[in-house]
Amino acid sequence: MTDFTSGTLTGKNLHLSFGHNHVLRGIDLHVEKGTTASVIGPSGSGKSTLLRVMNRLIEPDQGDILLDGRSVLKDNPDELRQRIGMVFQQFNLFPHKTVLDNVSLALRKLRKLSKDQARAEALEQLDLVGLKHKADARPANLSGGQQQRVAIARALAMKPEVMFFDEATSALDPELVKGVLALMADLAKGGMTMVVVTHEMGFSRNVSDTVTFMDAGVVVESGPPEQIFTAPATDRLKGFLSDVL
Ligand code: ADP
Ligand code: MG
Repeated sequence: MTDFTSGTLTGKNLHLSFGHNHVLRGIDLHVEKGTTASVIGPSGSGKSTLLRVMNRLIEPDQGDILLDGRSVLKDNPDELRQRIGMVFQQFNLFPHKTVLDNVSLALRKLRKLSKDQARAEALEQLDLVGLKHKADARPANLSGGQQQRVAIARALAMKPEVMFFDEATSALDPELVKGVLALMADLAKGGMTMVVVTHEMGFSRNVSDTVTFMDAGVVVESGPPEQIFTAPATDRLKGFLSDVL
């Protein structure tokens, strides 16, 4: 099982520019172990970039990243990437591999499990997302929602301490969104530490413990969902909510 004794993640004063485009302008984001932080905000505000900086797919220009209170910026970046599972809008499954192989591959390569052990753990994860019966199928023969659940199983199989979701339901047909959100809500309730970038205001409001509203590379407001959704303090958040709700 996943180790829930660690996984408090903090980004402090994070800055990142792409050329002259100053995309992250001093972001603070804190997620306490066992809780879910949602990140909302308009397109282009820097949400995806923030996730990529916080798992060190991109190095910040300035600022710090702490896991369980300890700065990780001097460690090998691969270490943090393995401790944080990531689920994207596009599922990024290997099309020519079976569902089982998609989940077990990283277990063999990164966790160095034997073939049998990787298979057993992969089947266990697939069972948890309700797709054990699809183990031998190819991704193309699954619905988008099922493919995303496989991608989630693949990330969970690595036993991450924190899970990042970047608009995990945005590419799905409307009728498939619910199943994936329900799985994410189950994970949250089960004590997984999660950072969820989402356009699903229902999830943000009802499932997450904290909400961070970003606009143009800054955190404009953050707080408990009740405060963010019923008492927005800034015109920017009020405007955003009136656009999306
Ligand atoms: P969001 O996820 O909130 O829609 P992004 O983090 O994707 O926002 O993008 C924020 C800004 O950074 C945008 O102006 C985008 O064009 C720019 N950007 C994102 N990724 C790159 C990249 N790899 N190279 C250059 N600019 C990028
Ligand atoms: Mg994005």
